[in-house]
Amino acid sequence: MSGSLSCPHCSAQAVVRTSRSESPLLRLSTLTCRNAACGHQFEAYTEIVCTISPSACASGEICLPTNSHEENRALRTRMSEPESSSPGANFE
Ligand SMILES: [Zn+2]
Repeated sequence: MSGSLSCPHCSAQAVVRTSRSESPLLRLSTLTCRNAACGHQFEAYTEIVCTISPSACASGEICLPTNSHEENRALRTRMSEPESSSPGANFE
């Protein structure tokens, strides 16, 4: 699997020409379509959105949500559970 983007118009592979860091979590890249007949140039953001496996030398300035399958499952379970104790419902 290639990490580069495809042209949204002709689906040919695009080449990164320049890229600059907007923030530690965000990069803006300028890409050119490899298809000479297309010639599309475009910009794309690469954003780091979550942690899958934590860093061993974590920076205190970086705050990312974790994306572990167990946490996601726990969250879904919690959200789908009906309210077990609605206040006042069993009040006598
Ligand atoms: Zn193209």
